[in-house]
Amino acid sequence: MKFKKQVARALALDSSLGRSITFFMAGLLIAGVATSTWTLSRSWERAVADTERDAINLSVSQARQAEDTFLQAELVLRDIRRSLPADGLLGVDVKQFDGYLTELKARLPQLHGLMVYDTQGDMRATSFGKVPLMSNNSDREYFVYHRRNGHGSIHIGHVIRSRSTGDLVIPVSLRISDSSGGFAGVLLATVKIDYFRHFYGYFELQNRDLLALINTDGTALYVRPYGDEMANRNLSASPLFTRELARKDRGNGTWVSALDHVERIYGFARLERYPLVVAAGYDKPALWNSWLNDSLPDLVLNAMLLLGTLLMGSIIFRQVRLNVRNQTELAVLRDELTSINHTLQLMALADGLTGLANRRQFDLFLAKSLKASAVTQKPVALIMIDIDEFKRYNDFYGHVAGDNCLRMVGEIIQKLKLCHNDLIARYGGEEFAIILPDTGPEAALFVARQAVTAVRSAQIPHIKSSGRYPIVTISAGCYSLIADPDFDDALRLKEGADKALYQAKVQGRDRAIAATA
Ligand code: GH3
Ligand code: MG
Ligand code: MG
Repeated sequence: MKFKKQVARALALDSSLGRSITFFMAGLLIAGVATSTWTLSRSWERAVADTERDAINLSVSQARQAEDTFLQAELVLRDIRRSLPADGLLGVDVKQFDGYLTELKARLPQLHGLMVYDTQGDMRATSFGKVPLMSNNSDREYFVYHRRNGHGSIHIGHVIRSRSTGDLVIPVSLRISDSSGGFAGVLLATVKIDYFRHFYGYFELQNRDLLALINTDGTALYVRPYGDEMANRNLSASPLFTRELARKDRGNGTWVSALDHVERIYGFARLERYPLVVAAGYDKPALWNSWLNDSLPDLVLNAMLLLGTLLMGSIIFRQVRLNVRNQTELAVLRDELTSINHTLQLMALADGLTGLANRRQFDLFLAKSLKASAVTQKPVALIMIDIDEFKRYNDFYGHVAGDNCLRMVGEIIQKLKLCHNDLIARYGGEEFAIILPDTGPEAALFVARQAVTAVRSAQIPHIKSSGRYPIVTISAGCYSLIADPDFDDALRLKEGADKALYQAKVQGRDRAIAATA
C-alpha cells in the first residue's frame, strides 16, 4: 500500500497533468521498445532469409558443378567404350591403349586415373602408363556391381583409397559387355577427392560453414571443412535424409548437425543424373554474432533514444511534482488566509466579551434595516436593554464577576426565540440592543418582556439589588418606526428606545416599556 503510494507520488499520478504525462511517457516507451523489437526481429528474419537463399544457391550451383564433373568422367568412359572392340578387350593393343588413356585423363583436371579391367578383375590398361604387377581389383565394390548388373549405366561408388597412388578417390565405372550382353570387364575413372577440396576452397565460407557432397544413400563423399576422416561416414540419420530429401529435391532447412552439434541453415540440391546430393550449411550462431555486430549501432542508438526519453520524462515529472506541491501549498495557504480573514471579519464585527454583535455591526445593521424599511415601508423596532444597578454589582462582586454577569445576560438574551433576521448586539458597557426589522411596537414590546422575564428567571444573585429579590434584573425600552429618508432615523430610533428605557428605570426597573412616537 505504502509502496503503491510512493510509486504514485514518484510518477506524479496524484495530479491529472502528472497522470497524462506518465501515461504519455509510458506509451512512448512501450511504442519505442515495440518498434525497436519489431525492427530488429525483422532485420534478423531478413538475415536468415538471405542466408537461406545463399545456401540454396550455393548448393544448386555445386550440384550443377558436381553433375558436370561426373558427366565429363562418364563421357570419357563412354568414349573409351566406343574405342574398344564390340566383343570387349580381346585383341586390344594394351601398350597403345595406355597412351590413349593418359591423353584422355590429361584433359580433365578432376580425374585421378582411368583404368580398364578384364572379366577377372585384372587391370589391362591404365592412364598411369604401366600396369602394376599385383593389380587385381575383383574385390572392389564397383567390380562386383557391374559383374552382377547387366545395364550399361554409369555407377558411382563410395570413396576408396587408390591402390596405385594411395589417394582418396571416387570410383566412376561403366560395365563392358560383349556383343551378346555378357560381362566383359569394367571401365573405371577415379575422381580425386582433392579436386572437390580444392574447388570448395574457392568459396568464402566461415570456419564452421559446411559444403558437402553426399551419396543419396547417406554416405559422405567429401565434407568441407572436415578432412579425410569424413569419407564414407554414414549420414543417413541426418534430417537431410530422414525429412527433407524425402519431400523434395532441393530446398532449405535448419537443424543441429549430429557431427559437431552446430546449428546450421542448410540449402540442399539433388543432382539430376547421378545419385548424389550437395548440401551447403551456414553456421547459425556465427550468423547471429555477425548480425548482432552489424545491429549494435542501431541497438545502441535505440537504447540512447529510449534513455533520453526516460530522462526527459523524469525531468518533466520532477517539474510537475514541484508544481503540484507548490499548488497544494498555495491552496493550503489560501485556505488559511481565508479562515484568518473570516476570523478577522468576525472579530471586527463581534464583541469580544459576549460574542454578540458589536457596536460597529449594530450600526451597519441598523442602517441597512432602515434603508430596507424606507423601501418596504415596514417598521423597524429597536429594543435597548440595560442591566439594573450594575455599578453596585461591580462594586460588590468585582469587575471579573461583573464581566461574567455580562456574559450570562448576553447568553440569556441570545437564547430568546427571535426571528432569524433580528440582530442582538452589545451596545456598550452593560447595555444590549436588539434590532428587529419588519417589526411593529407591540411585537417589539413582547420580545422585550420576554428578555426581562428570561433574565429574571435565571436568578443570578445580586445581593445589593434594591429590587424585590436579590437577583440581577434588566430594564428594556423599545421603539419602532417606518424609515423616512428625510430624517435621521437611527437617531430617532435610539432616542425613542432610550426614552422608553429611562421610563422603565423610573417606574422601578425589571420591566419593559414601549415608547410611542
Ligand atoms: P441603573 O440601574 O440606573 O442602570 O444603575 P447602574 O449602576 O447600572 O448604572 P450606571 O450606568 O451608573 O453604571 C453602569 C456600570 O456598569 C458602570 C460600570 O462599572 C459598569 N460597567 C460598564 N461596562 C462594564 C464592563 O464592561 N464590565 C464590567 N464589569 N462593568 C461594566
Ligand atoms: Mg447603563
Ligand atoms: Mg444599568
